[in-house]
Parts: sequence; structure tokens; C-alpha cells
Amino acid sequence: MTSDLSRYRHHILSHFKCQSTGVCCKTSGYVYVTAFDIKKMATFLNITVETFQAFFVIKRNGWSVIASPDFRSNCFLNENQSCHIYHLRPKACRTYPDWDFIWKNDVTLLNEASKCKGLKNAITFWQESV
Ligand code: SF4
Repeated sequence: MTSDLSRYRHHILSHFKCQSTGVCCKTSGYVYVTAFDIKKMATFLNITVETFQAFFVIKRNGWSVIASPDFRSNCFLNENQSCHIYHLRPKACRTYPDWDFIWKNDVTLLNEASKCKGLKNAITFWQESV
């Protein structure tokens, strides 16, 4: 593989296409949500904001979190590994894999690509195009 891949973040990301494996939803991170996210999700699930918070939200460092390694680690993935609230998924989910820690260097990038088929494909497509 080309070295210094992480320098080509925007070029590689332009080739990224989600393969819907659900792998990114099960990483060791935290899925943060805003009050607006919570309101939209609660409305979609036809429950109150209070009920949504009681069942699906914990607080971490003052932030609202709907999934973490020790809380709802499958988040809203269904049995087909699809997100039940995909059209309402929070910003962190919508921007994956354009996250700074992934693009820190080639080690972090290739580590993520070893788990995410879409990212691995994007790197391959980009390499074949240059
Ligand atoms: S909200 Fe949906 S897309 Fe985001 S981590 Fe949870 S299951 Fe995955």
C-alpha cells in the first residue's frame, strides 16, 4: 500500500461508500446525541422524550450518549445489522469515517480499514485511480 495514505483523507473519502455492515456502530466509541436528536428519535419511536431518555440515554461527561462499550453496545442495530433509526442517526454516524482519530496516521487509518469494508474499498479505489 502507498505510504502516507492518511494525507489523502479527502481524496480517499470521496471514494467511500457504506457497505452497511454495522461494524462502525460496534466500535469502542461513544454515540453522542443532542437534545434535538433525542426529540426526533423519540417522535419516530412514538414515545415521549422522557421515556426515550430513561431507556436509551446515559450521561457521560455531561453529554447524552445512546451507545457505548458498556451501554447498549449494539445501539439501534437490528438483526440484519441495519440501524433502525438510520434516517435520524446523529452527526457522528453521518460523518463516519471522516473522524480525526482515524486519519491521525496510516496505522490508525489501516486499523480502521481492517474493520470497515467501505473504507478498505475506498483506499483500494483511490490507489487504483492514481
Ligand atoms: S445511531 Fe444507528 S448508525 Fe449510529 S451507531 Fe447507532 S446503530 Fe449505528
